[in-house]
Amino acid sequence: LKIINEGLVKIEFPEFDKVSSDAPVFYNPRMEFNRDTSILAIQAFQKILNHNVDICDVFGGSGIRGVRYKKEIDNIGDVSVNDISSLANEFTKINADLNNVDINIYQKEASVMLRNHRGEFDIIDIDPFGTPSYFVDSAGYSIKRNSLLCLTATDTSALCGTYKEPCIRKYNAKPFKSEYCHENGIRILAGFAALTLAKYKKYITVLMSHSSEHYMRMYLYIKKGSRATDESLKNIGYMAHCKNCLHHEPIYGLASNIPENCPICGGKLTIAGPMWLGEIQNKEFIQEMISISDDKELNTKDDVLKLLNTCYSEAETPVGFYDIHVICRNLKVSAPKLDKILDTLKNNGYIAVRTHFSPLGIRTDASIEDIKNIILELLKE
Ligand code: SAM
Ligand code: ZN
Repeated sequence: LKIINEGLVKIEFPEFDKVSSDAPVFYNPRMEFNRDTSILAIQAFQKILNHNVDICDVFGGSGIRGVRYKKEIDNIGDVSVNDISSLANEFTKINADLNNVDINIYQKEASVMLRNHRGEFDIIDIDPFGTPSYFVDSAGYSIKRNSLLCLTATDTSALCGTYKEPCIRKYNAKPFKSEYCHENGIRILAGFAALTLAKYKKYITVLMSHSSEHYMRMYLYIKKGSRATDESLKNIGYMAHCKNCLHHEPIYGLASNIPENCPICGGKLTIAGPMWLGEIQNKEFIQEMISISDDKELNTKDDVLKLLNTCYSEAETPVGFYDIHVICRNLKVSAPKLDKILDTLKNNGYIAVRTHFSPLGIRTDASIEDIKNIILELLKE
């Protein structure tokens, strides 16, 4: 057996060589950052609801999330942990006892769990192996109005378009590989959730989302109402991308006219979607997460704060971003310093911020032509 410390808890699980779905009970130390971020997001959401919140971790593994949520989040109500594996559940029990917390433990297939407990939870956490796509419909059926849906996806190669067909199969969306494909991936996942929940008259607001290491994670505020759902689906659309000049533009609407050619150079446009073109970061929510972090003991706090500050500045900026090295390769010039480009864009009155998706990325409302001109001007200096 092995014992580790994370946040305020101790967790025990059978020792294994390599993190994989073959481990007897799943525990991945690299996901501590994800769990730390989750503590802040769930606490921030609890503050929005302003009452005790009941939560279900549908894919419990060692039980670490459930135990941490119970121990580290204020005004937490009932915590339920589900896992299809009986051994995982044995360890959830051991870990609950080890940390003196009460947890309801279930052994059901995730979709059955969700459907059996319709309307019971204020927060549903879906943290499966690979894709969450199989479970989103059951989550949509089961989740109550004014609740939080936390989604993890580790099939980033599908969402980012390394492989096209799996993305079409799992998310009913076409991806494309580009410098900002991780953002497209987040938007395809959010779009899939929005479209899946819509039939239950439920709609999403993305409170916070990030792509880190090998996974994507998002926190969706779920509300209910047919009119509001119709309105919200106006955020569904496509991303059009020109590989020739690097222009990109979002195209709103599920059945809108999609141009074939680039308005700037006439090159052929590549299309990804349907996807969520609405906000993927919420300033107020992220600000709340940042202030809550003062009261929490988190081993990865510095990294979490770095992420949160970047995501905060990414809120209310245009869809998609540009990669400076890709633009400079396209121009066949060497790249000026990123900060210089950002400053120059800002001095010219544009929005210009970094993105957590890439150290070479800039989010700006400047057109590709303006960015290219600014780069060429900077190189003359
Ligand atoms: N949330 C955990 C954490 O933070 O450490 C990790 C969960 S792990 C990625 C996925 C877990 O889901 C495994 O423990 C596995 O036994 C369980 N599982 C796999 N398929 C399932 C299903 N269809 N229904 C319920 N549990 C399932
Ligand atoms: Zn073009």
